[in-house]
Amino acid sequence: MTLQELRERQSWSLEQKIDHSLGTIEAFVSRMGGVDKVYVAFSGGKDSTVLLDLCHKVYPNILAVFCNTGNEYPDIVRFVRQKIAAGENIQIIRPKMTPREVWAKYGFPLVSKESSEHIHDIRINPQSKTARRKLTGDFSLPIKWRYLIYEPYDTTHYCCKILKKNPSHDYQKQSGRFQIIGTMASESQLREKSYIRYGGCNVFGKRPTSRPLSIWCDEDIWTYIRRFDISIADIYYKGAKRTGCMGCGFGAQFTGDPRFRTLLREYPKCYDMVMNYTNNGVTFREALRKVLAVNKLYLPDEQPPTLFDEFNTKAI
Ligand code: SF4
Repeated sequence: MTLQELRERQSWSLEQKIDHSLGTIEAFVSRMGGVDKVYVAFSGGKDSTVLLDLCHKVYPNILAVFCNTGNEYPDIVRFVRQKIAAGENIQIIRPKMTPREVWAKYGFPLVSKESSEHIHDIRINPQSKTARRKLTGDFSLPIKWRYLIYEPYDTTHYCCKILKKNPSHDYQKQSGRFQIIGTMASESQLREKSYIRYGGCNVFGKRPTSRPLSIWCDEDIWTYIRRFDISIADIYYKGAKRTGCMGCGFGAQFTGDPRFRTLLREYPKCYDMVMNYTNNGVTFREALRKVLAVNKLYLPDEQPPTLFDEFNTKAI
């Protein structure tokens, strides 16, 4: 598989992609030994909602598994419960720790997974070879985030592992089932590279996994939702661009990122709860405020008044 072949597949029509995905699902289920040997990893987001709809076309009662991390938008949890109430075969699993406990023990997820891992490794052993590489190598920690090495609180990359990966791995081990997931190569360079390396949507290595939406793009998902009138979680109609965790610091430093504005407007109590999580006596609010300040941004409830606001106040 080459990048060019991937690009060619990504340019297929939606009909071709649907056919390809259905074939991928059937091939995986058959190779794994039947529908009782697989499950759909269902996050409640739009991509996995489309994936589940596709799976239902060939296996109407296929099992879906939702991991409730404790950091989900209430809309997502409601959406999943509605589906269960409507008779869909969905099982809910949970991580062993709550987000509050993970952040208190390991630190805050800030900036990005890569930068958090760099910060963590440098703080653990500043004299090590690894720390030196992460400060001077080709993919070293960006200068503007180096202040995080010296902060009184920890920055972590373990959060996803504990809240999402471990429960999924534990479930696979206990159930003996293999997962069908809704990731797309277009989401990141890492996923693109992984698709090319494994040479397709079904991976039959140590941990067999099916990724039937690999060649889809975001626009295909929306077209599918509109064309087949698929119901998705309400949070998409309230300004959220992505679902995922409602209170995560990864990527929050980008201008225009709406997540905390949306959370404050729609769920102020959840916003306060996340902002008050602590690590080493420092709140997430304090840590995030500093990260945002690096890019001259503010938390939505700390935004200073603009000239426009002042003009409006005077006009009143
Ligand atoms: S997305 Fe963020 S908050 Fe959610 S599990 Fe991963 S690191 Fe933690």
